[in-house]
Amino acid sequence: PYMEQTFGSWYVMGGMRELARAVYERCVARRVTFVFGAEVVRVVEKDGRAAGVELADGEVAEADRVVLGVRPRPGLVPGQQTWGAGDVTVRPGSGAGAAGRFTVLLSLRGAREADAVHRTVVHGADGATEQEAVFGGRVAAGPTVTVLRPDDPATRPDAEHEAVTLTATVAPQGPVDWRDAGVRQRFADVLVERAAAAVPGLRERILHTEVHTPAETEAETGAEGGAVPPPALAGADGAYLHPGNLTRLPGLYLAGGWSHPGGGLAHAGMSGTLVAGLVVEGDDFRGSR
Ligand SMILES: Cc1cc2nc3c(=O)[nH]c(=O)nc-3n(C[C@H](O)[C@H](O)[C@H](O)COP(=O)(O)OP(=O)(O)OC[C@H]3O[C@@H](n4cnc5c(N)ncnc54)[C@H](O)[C@@H]3O)c2cc1C
Repeated sequence: PYMEQTFGSWYVMGGMRELARAVYERCVARRVTFVFGAEVVRVVEKDGRAAGVELADGEVAEADRVVLGVRPRPGLVPGQQTWGAGDVTVRPGSGAGAAGRFTVLLSLRGAREADAVHRTVVHGADGATEQEAVFGGRVAAGPTVTVLRPDDPATRPDAEHEAVTLTATVAPQGPVDWRDAGVRQRFADVLVERAAAAVPGLRERILHTEVHTPAETEAETGAEGGAVPPPALAGADGAYLHPGNLTRLPGLYLAGGWSHPGGGLAHAGMSGTLVAGLVVEGDDFRGSR
């Protein structure tokens, strides 16, 4: 919140997909090879080192080093002690408590006003009750809704239309069944209704609506419950810290939102920088100085 209040928030022109595309193209230029549609089932260990990954079809891809960009889970490296006593690890049930996002993508008729605010947070009526619902696995009655109105021509067909995105932090898929058509529709309606505080006349302008819930996040990315990794925060006896980027198995590293320093694109990017440093500089690397 301090960073956002002080420096503002950032936005990728063309939408978030453009960031993925730019990273992809940069990697290809740097001669990185991508293999898509290849599900990793475990990390292969040989002579006390990570030696590759085994894919769902049984194929083994050998490697000198393995960087795991998904949520680490016990059993990923059979028979190996990946973390030692005192390490920050994946706490039992910690994922079950992680929240997902409910997103309503709106196509609106009518131009975006030139002075429209990019990002407005419409706070819930009662934060404590909302938090209890989200982390207790229920649908919150009066959710906090983030209303996004970027001034980005790539998101609309012409100046006579506008694209607006509404998001709310919600319980993951599982305790709430976000595939239930009624549940989805009712909650989407609540978001639209609450967002009208930021965009007067919103409902009347809607041409098309798409709803994206933790159920879709889970189906599309494999993230358990469609959970979104939270940032690593100090305090609470380390309850909000994520596993470190270096594991006890030589050659196995962790990157991405489920490792240090936690979720969010900026943090996930930092974890990649840390792992690159560890690979290039060695295990003593502790970030830039
Ligand atoms: C709706 C939504 C809104 C968000 N909004 C913001 C925001 O405004 N700002 C922000 O900073 N962050 C936001 N986040 C969070 C941010 O997207 C994540 O923190 C970030 O993408 C994490 O990056 P990652 O590389 O760790 O994981 P991911 O981007 O999830 O990438 C993991 C990849 O691994 C693949 N995979 C999973 N399991 C396997 C397997 N077994 N084998 C092979 N591949 C596998 C997945 O398919 C996926 O492609 C949002 C997330 C969501 C869902």
